[in-house]
Amino acid sequence: MKHGGATTADNLCYACIFCNLQKGTDLGSINWQTGELVRFFNPRRDFWGEHFWLDEALIQPLTEIGEVTARIFDFNVDERVIERQALILSGQYPSASALKRINK
Ligand SMILES: [Zn+2]
Repeated sequence: MKHGGATTADNLCYACIFCNLQKGTDLGSINWQTGELVRFFNPRRDFWGEHFWLDEALIQPLTEIGEVTARIFDFNVDERVIERQALILSGQYPSASALKRINK
């Protein structure tokens, strides 16, 4: 709400507790190589596979949007990678619905 926008379904997005806490009210971050402000990945309009790829249990960025998002959201902090490894081993990651979106 800090930046405005409606509290409606088309302006909201599901997020896990880790991503939600890391994001806070931020909308993006700095690309330290260029000094440019870069927006975060927008799950409502961006395709995951365009900005990231799955390197075993690591989420690797493909774009500067992917880089700032992965860095600020701490996608690859140890405990999250360990959780992802366990989900991969049990066949639950990525989910079938995520794969459909990733492969779009
Ligand atoms: Zn998350």
